[in-house]
Amino acid sequence: MSVTYSSRLEAIPGYTAGVPKGKAPEAIAEAGIAQLASNESPFAPHPKVVEAIARAAAASNRYPDPAATLLRRRLADRFDVDPAEIAVANGSCEILLAAAEALCEPGAEIVYAWPSFSIYPYLAPLSGGREIRVPLADGDVHDLDAMVAEVTAATQLLIVCNPNNPTGTHLPAERIGELMERLPDHVVAIVDEAYVEFQAHDDPDTTLDLRRRHPNLVLLRTFSKCYGLAGLRVGYALCGARFRAAVDAVRQPFSVNAVAQAAAAEAILHQDDVAKRVGQTIAERIFVTEGVRELGLRTPDSHANFSWIRLGDDDDEGEVVAALGDRGVVVRPGTPLGGPGHIRVSYGTRVENERFLDALAAAIGPG
Ligand code: PMP
Repeated sequence: MSVTYSSRLEAIPGYTAGVPKGKAPEAIAEAGIAQLASNESPFAPHPKVVEAIARAAAASNRYPDPAATLLRRRLADRFDVDPAEIAVANGSCEILLAAAEALCEPGAEIVYAWPSFSIYPYLAPLSGGREIRVPLADGDVHDLDAMVAEVTAATQLLIVCNPNNPTGTHLPAERIGELMERLPDHVVAIVDEAYVEFQAHDDPDTTLDLRRRHPNLVLLRTFSKCYGLAGLRVGYALCGARFRAAVDAVRQPFSVNAVAQAAAAEAILHQDDVAKRVGQTIAERIFVTEGVRELGLRTPDSHANFSWIRLGDDDDEGEVVAALGDRGVVVRPGTPLGGPGHIRVSYGTRVENERFLDALAAAIGPG
């Protein structure tokens, strides 16, 4: 008899990384490839963060602090909350997976929009729950009415990605407040704010006030984007103490390594650097958005560090992605992200973005 694996594996979609396979990030950069496929920061971490990384690396013979005490205290100071209401994780993805495991018995319902972040489809198969995908409304925004209409007594989790990956669209905090007023108390709402620092509607701290009023609201954030630490994997949730204890209970104790904890604890102290990166990203967002529209292509106003671009009816998504790749520009094809006929491009440096626009103009041809 041969080994049989869990039938749940068949329902897990799998993740396609945005970089060329089998190559280290530094080798890809040395080859002059513009990596615009994973919504990373094109800017290296702050020098003080690199120093903190080196210091922590020298003490790698020890296990990390399982409670990530320093990092959680600095996050608590930054957001003026109790450290007990902060969960940290090996990337915010880990909190999503742990939340499903901690909240969902077989048959529990998980509601989220589609197209949205490509990890959400993992949650139901991994937890034995049932997913309900609600199509985005016109303008590629979340249809909150339709999402609330799907909530039942069995709903355990409702996820709103805001700004939404891959469309870059954003709902003002006021709309999230209205959602929370309507949502029954038994539903945990995770507002995935991986890109919240880049949006232009509200002060990113506005949703923190909502969290104080609604104990079933979880705000999910990350050091992978505006802090430029994607390679170290640190995410966090601003949440109730019970949620934190629940996600901690289903994970291994040392999930955030010591180097990552040290880097994130230092990075949070450099808010001026974060503001600078956000400013640069917004300048590039305007540059890329205008460039794409000048080519006659449609793209929703982005509130993130990437654009979602609708190709022309005559353009073949696979051919466009391949043509960009031939010119050393890596972007994401839309089909695996739930949007056939689209591409998603992250903003790089100005030089990389110019390269992208030139390559896109050549790839789609005249007209
Ligand atoms: N949420 C969204 C919407 C994302 O796009 C990403 C990263 N692509 C994440 C969460 C995960 O970020 P990380 O696990 O690196 O913190």
